[in-house]
Formats: sequence, C-alpha cells, structure tokens
Amino acid sequence: MALGNARKTTATALGVTLAGAALAACGGQQGTPPANVASPSPAPSTATVPHQTRTGTPPATSSPRGPSAPPASSAASAPDTASDDAPGDAPPGPRVSREIQHGIEDGGKAVALTFDDGPDPRWTPQILALLARHHAKATFCEIGPNAQAHPAVVRQITAAGHRLCDHSVHHDEHQSSKSAEYNRHEMLDARRQIAAAAGPGAEVPYYRAPGGDFKPWIREMAAGHGMRPLGWTSDSDDWKRPGADAIVRHVNTNLRPGAIVLMHDGGGDRSQTVQALSRLLDQLDAQHYKYSFPGR
Ligand SMILES: [Zn+2]
Repeated sequence: MALGNARKTTATALGVTLAGAALAACGGQQGTPPANVASPSPAPSTATVPHQTRTGTPPATSSPRGPSAPPASSAASAPDTASDDAPGDAPPGPRVSREIQHGIEDGGKAVALTFDDGPDPRWTPQILALLARHHAKATFCEIGPNAQAHPAVVRQITAAGHRLCDHSVHHDEHQSSKSAEYNRHEMLDARRQIAAAAGPGAEVPYYRAPGGDFKPWIREMAAGHGMRPLGWTSDSDDWKRPGADAIVRHVNTNLRPGAIVLMHDGGGDRSQTVQALSRLLDQLDAQHYKYSFPGR
C-alpha cells in the first residue's frame, strides 16, 4: 500500500539497511494495524519508522467471532487440515485452542519473555547470554528464512531450553487479506524451516502472526496444525528504538505476574533491546519474578 511504500522509501533515504532475507522480511512490517486490533496506535512519523508499525495492545480476543472464512479471493476455502503438510514435514502437534494465548504456563509470580523477528547472529547470542546469566527462559518467534540462514543460533536457543514459535516466512502484516493458500505457506513453510534448523525432535508449539494479524480463520489454521496463537500483554516497543530507559519503562507499564513480554532479537539494530533486557532481568530478579513460557 502507498503508506508502506512511502515508509520504505523513507527508510532507504535514511540509510536503513534492509539487507538479507531477514531484514527485507521485516521491512514489510510497516502499515496500518490489522482491523481486528482493538486500539491501533497513531501512525508513527515516517522519520522514526525504520521497522514496523506495532499495535500498542495485543490483538483483540474478546470479540466472540467464529472462524470467519478467508478472503473471497482465496482459492482454498475448505477447512484447513493437517493433510496440508508437505511430505516429510514434522507431524503436527495435537490440536490446540485457537484462542490467542495471553497467559503463561505456570501460576505465581512469573513472566514469559518473548523475542520476535530473529534469529539474528549478532543480537540473539547476546540475548541468550543475558538469559543464561539470570537462569531465565524465553520464547523465540522466528522468521523461517532467518532460522534457515542461522541454524546454529536456533540450536543454541533450543539447547538452552528456550522455546520456538513460528513467526511466518515473510512477516507480512497484511497476510489475512490474502488467500488461505498464501497463509498456509507463510505458516507451514516457516515452521518447516524453523524445525529443520533446530534439528530432530524440535517443537514449534506457537504461532505469532506478524503484526498480530490474527483473524479467526488464521488462528484456526494455526490451531489445526498444533500451534497455539501467541499474543502478548506487555509491549516493549523496542523496535522503535526509543532508548533502553524507555524500553524498560514500556515493559513495566503492563508488567504483572503472568505477563507475556514482547521484545525483538531481529529485524534491525537491537543494541537497545540488549541494554534494556540486562536491566529488566536485574529488576525482575530483584522483584523475585520467575521466568515461564506462554501457555500452549
Ligand atoms: Zn515480528
């Protein structure tokens, strides 16, 4: 759309590097928030948007909509089934709830840290080192081609006991306006790439739609393939690169036991995220928070 193109042009003018599949994928994140988001944030100034438009709130879950059909342009409107998996694909997990997960697995005073848009060979290992120092576990929502390009980083993630989440192939924040077939490829090709990078036995139990574009039929598709739609409750807005202080402040705005915190280990310069995470982990430890995973 025009707005997205304008931002891409601006990003180029600002010298933002969109090299490689990973960053090119995330460069497509600009645009208006999906229609199913409750309260879209104001469109950011083009001068400060190198990456994407994030919605301040998690995708709406309260509306009791059924799994509406894909757009009429869809060639495949039949219910999605596990038989869509390509030969040799890992078997899908058992069917899970299609409701967006906004809660964590364990009760008590714990949070689930989530990192999107990686893996990135520069930033992800720094984040992993911080998590290890604090004995913290996290969930990494990966872009398929990034995982394919950096399998050693993916294996570092799983070897440390963190979890993986499917964050699509191209990070198309408007994917719900496209066909079921397109979405099936975005979802399942990425899962295949992530699972292959992680190696035998790896699980990818969550799906986080780019930009939270969680139309009911997309959630249904993810659930039908054993992946729980994964939301968030505390948005760091780290992708805007507002400075580490602001990132910490944003997280604290909605921090509570059971929070799912959204941060980014890929898609651009994440030095501020690393700085902020270091402070957050110190703070969370001091507050006696434990670290958990989102519920499946
Ligand atoms: Zn993302």
